Amino acid sequence: MFHHRKSINLRKAFLMITFGILLPVDALVQDPNSLKLLENDVKKALNCSFITTDGVPDNEAYQVLDFILRDSRTFTFNLPYLRKIVIANTLKGSYTENLGCFTGITLPNTRDEQFLDYSLRHEIGHVIDHEQNARESKEWNAARKHVETKSISTYAGTNDQELFAEMVAYRTAREYGKSLTPFPGDIEKMIDRFLRNPSPSRR
Ligand SMILES: [Zn+2]
Repeated sequence: MFHHRKSINLRKAFLMITFGILLPVDALVQDPNSLKLLENDVKKALNCSFITTDGVPDNEAYQVLDFILRDSRTFTFNLPYLRKIVIANTLKGSYTENLGCFTGITLPNTRDEQFLDYSLRHEIGHVIDHEQNARESKEWNAARKHVETKSISTYAGTNDQELFAEMVAYRTAREYGKSLTPFPGDIEKMIDRFLRNPSPSRR
């Protein structure tokens, strides 16, 4: 009898300890289904097929994706088709393409919303470039000679692929035309053409 009660009390104590630890985290995690729902919303909003959050805790992935969803509502350009978004524990974003048809972007698991916003726009810039063969166009080649890479960013000077992505991030930034000096008219027109083109149908 005594033994039985003791084991119940132990179990109760165990549960109390477990919930005591879990509760503060729980407040951020929401319920497990809500991450899946949010992923679906982001996929729809960003014209994307897959989202993975490898190695990132659910509550942190939730915060990143929640920001991405809110951020995507401020986009005024046509989104290219993205096969995959990866949220990862990296310091910066990156872009991958495979066999000419697989496009994916990796975004850093960060609470720095300004950096996340910039990273998203920059990586989408690579996808637009790839999808439309932007840097092989007459328009790009004609305007390229007049682009001052330094006025965009230091990173824009890396190579033309990074320059294009930086120009998309710059042009679509909310501060463009406010604290960011607008591009000269012909360059703005060239970039806007790529931003306005509808995405080709999904491959
Ligand atoms: Zn890049």
